[in-house]
Amino acid sequence: MNVETDKKNLQENPESRVNLLGQSETALKDFFAGLNEKPFRARQILQWIHQRNVDAFDEMTDLSKNLREQLVQVASVQLPKVISEQKSADGTVKWLFESGAGQAVETVFIPEPDRGTLCISSQVGCALDCAFCATGAQGFNRNLNVDEIIGQVTHANRNLPIRPNGKPAVTNVVFMGMGEPLANFRNVLQALELLLSDFAYGLSRRRITVSTSGVVPNIEKLGDQQNVSLAVSLHAPNDELRDRLVPINRMHPISELLAACWRYAAKRANRFITFEYVMLRDVNDSLQHADELAELLAGHPAKVNLIPFNPFQGNEFQRSRTAAIRDFQNRLRERGLVATTRKTRGDDIDAACGQLAGKVRDRVRVRLSEKRRRTTTA
Ligand code: SAH
Ligand code: SF4
Repeated sequence: MNVETDKKNLQENPESRVNLLGQSETALKDFFAGLNEKPFRARQILQWIHQRNVDAFDEMTDLSKNLREQLVQVASVQLPKVISEQKSADGTVKWLFESGAGQAVETVFIPEPDRGTLCISSQVGCALDCAFCATGAQGFNRNLNVDEIIGQVTHANRNLPIRPNGKPAVTNVVFMGMGEPLANFRNVLQALELLLSDFAYGLSRRRITVSTSGVVPNIEKLGDQQNVSLAVSLHAPNDELRDRLVPINRMHPISELLAACWRYAAKRANRFITFEYVMLRDVNDSLQHADELAELLAGHPAKVNLIPFNPFQGNEFQRSRTAAIRDFQNRLRERGLVATTRKTRGDDIDAACGQLAGKVRDRVRVRLSEKRRRTTTA
């Protein structure tokens, strides 16, 4: 094939070019080494894409003309495609991003006077099947790649108004959308590198939170490698109840999970770990449960964030009564813990915690239905 045909093919099939959107500085240095270019090119590209919002290589004026031409041939910058954008009465914004095969993931922006928090997805669905979660109920299809994870932040910053101080809209990122981030460890780690890089998003570790339902071995690894803020979805103060609500507990019980948490906190000068606790009426919301929870966490660098359960279709749980949530929180405080209750945001557009369902084709179900189709048509 001659060069001209090659060029034509690349233009017609942009997917065959490397997408630079999700490449961290380390990955870009390797990429430029392959083009016989100096490592500092990596930082230039990061700044163009993530800080100056320029995707067209021919507009990247501090790159040599020759390099710009080469990049057009072999690389591209492609953001995930937006299917829809919805705005809630309280200012919350929810986007649905296409993730192939008729599927989609969701991202939510939550504006507050002092910050703008983006809640991002890490997987198409989730395999961990927590009893009260809309994402879990949909099943699991695949991990998002780094472009698809970081692209949620890129899109939000490019489409939301800048803050009064002239800075981009997203000041905080939480991995609390669809999926279990620590089950997509390698890609989440690379996305974290971009969020933390001064040449990309430049966020501090305090402003990035990874939320996990308890993939214990990867809590250890995260502590060794990126050590951002950690939130743990505890939801029950004993193994019997947690086994039912958060099935991964059967593999990594509470004692093992908490031991990993305290080691994680110790690596960060004992910065607090947030324990999320969804308030389910008459399931985990009694004062005895609060006492048991205080017993587990008191004396450790722990904060508790109570999340009033957000209902979704087909789920039988109910939100705890307001008085029960208040009493539970007070009991934790009396026992010396820092405890807050999360304000429900964006529930009029199904953007509240645990309501993110996107569009997921569960892998097992897809395989079964294909098998059935094959046997009935055979
Ligand atoms: N997989 C990760 C992060 C995504 S879920 C995790 O489980 O931590 C983000 C938070 O929303 C978790 O604390 C999760 O338990 C909570 N959540 C899930 N379903 C919910 C619901 N229906 N109502 C309220 N919170 C929910
Ligand atoms: Fe997955 Fe988190 Fe939902 Fe559990 S709560 S099913 S881990 S997304």
